[in-house]
Amino acid sequence: MPFDSIALLWLLLPVAAASGWMAALRGERQRRTQARQTRQRLSPHYFRGINYLLNEQPDKAIEVFIKMLEIESEMVETHLALGNLFRRRGEVDRAIRIHQNLIGNRSLSEEERTLAMLELGMDYMRAGLLDRAEELFRQLLDGGMHIRQSLKQLVDIYQQEQDWNKAIDTARRLEQVSGRSLHPMIAHFYCEQAEESWRQREPARALQFIDTALEVDPRCVRANLMAGRAAEDAGDLEAAVERYRHIEEQDPDFLPEAMDPLLRCYRALHRMDEFTFYLRGLAEKHNAITPVLLLAELLAERQGIDAALEYLSSALHRRPSVRGLERLVHYALAHAEGRARDNLLLLKEFVAKLLENKSVYRCSQCGFTGRLLHWQCPGCKNWNTVKPIHGIEGE
Ligand SMILES: [Zn+2]
Repeated sequence: MPFDSIALLWLLLPVAAASGWMAALRGERQRRTQARQTRQRLSPHYFRGINYLLNEQPDKAIEVFIKMLEIESEMVETHLALGNLFRRRGEVDRAIRIHQNLIGNRSLSEEERTLAMLELGMDYMRAGLLDRAEELFRQLLDGGMHIRQSLKQLVDIYQQEQDWNKAIDTARRLEQVSGRSLHPMIAHFYCEQAEESWRQREPARALQFIDTALEVDPRCVRANLMAGRAAEDAGDLEAAVERYRHIEEQDPDFLPEAMDPLLRCYRALHRMDEFTFYLRGLAEKHNAITPVLLLAELLAERQGIDAALEYLSSALHRRPSVRGLERLVHYALAHAEGRARDNLLLLKEFVAKLLENKSVYRCSQCGFTGRLLHWQCPGCKNWNTVKPIHGIEGE
């Protein structure tokens, strides 16, 4: 694999600066002198280093550049760029070597040295050495350097370590420093604590965390789903229904998540008329197909297939959906015979193929898709960005 062209770009920047910019400013003659001086200053080590990189001998290149740093501290930026490049390429050991070497160089300014510490911290994170990374970021914080970046990395570390108390404290500090609300993420940290309490069979404690999550972020659907589940477990189905129905106001994108729990509760409460009425309202107000399908199912169950068929076909006129079509074919098959039945069976097979292995959820940030709901995206690690997919093949 040829060495990354970005590397060359970075490494050649000083040359470009010397030969281009200066020329415009100081005239042709001066330019020649400058270029000659630059060549003299950079050669032979500089070009030998580049040569090694081009020939895919990065270790030899590093040796050359490190030697140059001892003589020429102006090479700091090049080193930082090179170190970042190695980290991005997954060659973390090399990145660590470069950044450690920078930190050890006494001729560096405080700003440069702490910048190298920040980079080294990120190398350690990439290498999974979270303790060492944490130590570095803490040192930077104590020294009042690169506070925002350090806090950001620390929040990341504490999430990976599932140390939710520290994650919450650090995120709150980051909010103050950056002036940006991190409420939705912090609410999820409380939800994580609630789940942990649940696993340890401490439901009262879990409920406290859920309440705090909702105080921090009243739109936290996850907390509401958990609160509903807790109410169900406690036998308070009325309260559970209230919680689940609140999701419509919190974030209608998550409506499908509330459908099964609501069906469960309304059935147990023997209040199916009320539920049917609620579903009609949802189907009219929102675009989601799950309430429509559930309503059709209830109509089939309570008034027969014809009622379901009639409702579904009119609903699909307003809002085309592959999942709706699948159900429509399913109902239509109940009465079909002969040739019509054969055609419907063919259509059923076709629609099933269309829906086979279709992702149900997608992250709005990185595009990650899957069939399970993740509150934290497995791809980009953002919270609250994975949602049910809408559109003709989705919700
Ligand atoms: Zn993502």
